Amino acid sequence: MPSFPFSEKDPIQFPGPAPKRSDVVIIGGGVIGVTTALYLAEKGVAVTLVEKGRIAAEQSSRNWGWIRQQGRDADELPIVIEARRLWKELAQECGEDIGLQQTGVTYLANSARDMNGFDDFIKIAARHGVDTRLLSSAETAALIPGMARTFHGAMTTPSDMRAEPSLAVPALARLAVRKGAAIVENCAARTLDMSEGRISGVWTEAGLIETSSVLVAGGAWSSLFLRRHGVSIPQLSVRSTVAATEPLPEVHAGAAVDDHVAFRRRQDGGYTLAPGGGSALYVGPDSFRHAIKYLPALFDNPFGLRYLPAAPSGFPDAWSTPRHWAADEKSPFERMRILNPAPSRKGLRSVEREFARLFPGLGPIRLKTAWAGMIDAMPDVVPVVDRVQSIDGLFVATGMSGHGFGIGPGIGRVVADLIQGNAVGHDLTRFRMSRFSDGSPIRLGPAL
Ligand SMILES: Cc1cc2nc3c(=O)[nH]c(=O)nc-3n(C[C@H](O)[C@H](O)[C@H](O)COP(=O)(O)OP(=O)(O)OC[C@H]3O[C@@H](n4cnc5c(N)ncnc54)[C@H](O)[C@@H]3O)c2cc1C
Repeated sequence: MPSFPFSEKDPIQFPGPAPKRSDVVIIGGGVIGVTTALYLAEKGVAVTLVEKGRIAAEQSSRNWGWIRQQGRDADELPIVIEARRLWKELAQECGEDIGLQQTGVTYLANSARDMNGFDDFIKIAARHGVDTRLLSSAETAALIPGMARTFHGAMTTPSDMRAEPSLAVPALARLAVRKGAAIVENCAARTLDMSEGRISGVWTEAGLIETSSVLVAGGAWSSLFLRRHGVSIPQLSVRSTVAATEPLPEVHAGAAVDDHVAFRRRQDGGYTLAPGGGSALYVGPDSFRHAIKYLPALFDNPFGLRYLPAAPSGFPDAWSTPRHWAADEKSPFERMRILNPAPSRKGLRSVEREFARLFPGLGPIRLKTAWAGMIDAMPDVVPVVDRVQSIDGLFVATGMSGHGFGIGPGIGRVVADLIQGNAVGHDLTRFRMSRFSDGSPIRLGPAL
């Protein structure tokens, strides 16, 4: 059983070797790459997924495990509704306990103003038949008993779910392999191989895989890989701190957040906790390159981020990270197999304090483990899911902006159809790559 957070010391579960030829190559073994591989394999497409470190070792195991429809961008909601259905199917089919439970998601409100802020989503949810509703102060206290604070009310979606990310995504990878996908860990994709202006393969650290279709699903590394091939996306990543408590009595089976702490009941009897706000941006070359596109997000929430002057060496946007390398050269991807930022100590003190303050009946809160993840984001807080116009055969699904776990299987199914040239069943206009270069104004989705 691998440790958590996953590390390079964990045994390789998917050793390969990679085939010499594949219909599709997927770069990145997070929830997006894994579920795309699964749905392609299901259709009989020969698909190979290469992962530079371990399956799900970055964001896809480090997240809070919320599978939420609540608070989604209107254009994402139909895909999340599908994803919720797919999660149930996949949990059954994979035959492993991934901790999937329908226990609801709740946003707690301090004031009438907070409650008014929920109005837009209540209307969107109603249009799509999602069971989101507002709760009075008394209903909120009844839903989550034992809270020391009296909230003005809440917005809740009982049909939202939770799962254990570190169990779920590796289990889906095993299912994808059973369906015929090839998955290779410890295998960085270095560059695309091009002939006559179109993709002819992917150079990995283990050699060339010939292919005509490539999906970049590299999470926080996607823009570095794409830029090497002259494709620019304004992606930045922010560090977000998380902790898991020792087992504690159950105060609420679901997930909830107030202005100080987010919490979610875990399968092991503890809670996953995260500080409200306090994500950090390591300033690097891409921060300057794309700054102007992030101004709307900055004005919307001027104090939402801390700024740190430089990323640790080897991070995707560190000052010293090479932006160019050759196919036969060691690339930045294999130099850092697992992006493992140090959690913020201030953030950890804050979650211990705030969770104990909210639930004094639980007694002292002891953290079992703590970690951080780099959330990859786009300026309008919705992903890029598109084919790349300038390179025939290249597809991108990235920038999940802090909510890619829940929507993951929905995006995976959509991208699998996009690559096969099938109808995708949803309008992807909002997620097109050209929105950042065709003069469209930035239209902000809901916050991270
Ligand atoms: C702290 C935190 C809390 C979150 N909470 C939630 C939540 O509750 N609910 C929710 O829906 N979402 C949440 N998210 C967001 C969610 O985890 C991500 O959106 C999602 O996991 C992104 O999946 P991905 O497959 O795009 O990227 P990742 O999971 O980051 O996977 C990308 C993979 O690509 C690999 N890779 C990159 N470049 C290469 C290369 N050149 N060659 C080979 N491999 C490569 C990387 O090693 C990595 O494993 C949270 C994220 C964090 C960090």
